[in-house]
Amino acid sequence: MKVAVDRDHCIGAGNCAMTAPSVFDQDADEAIVILLTDSPPDSEQDAVQQAVDRCPAAVIRLLP
Ligand code: SF4
Repeated sequence: MKVAVDRDHCIGAGNCAMTAPSVFDQDADEAIVILLTDSPPDSEQDAVQQAVDRCPAAVIRLLP
């Protein structure tokens, strides 16, 4: 599984970091998403999919 985020369009809602904290963090100043790994283990797949579904700005993508 590969993950990508568009930091330019992140609105800092933080749902991703709450849903999959081993994959997503947030910048301390602006709360913009930080991708901790672009290749999460399969055990994180459900959490990452939930983060995709819950991102209000739709800036998280799963890549083939
Ligand atoms: S849920 Fe989406 S908008 Fe919110 S911090 Fe994460 S990537 Fe940014």
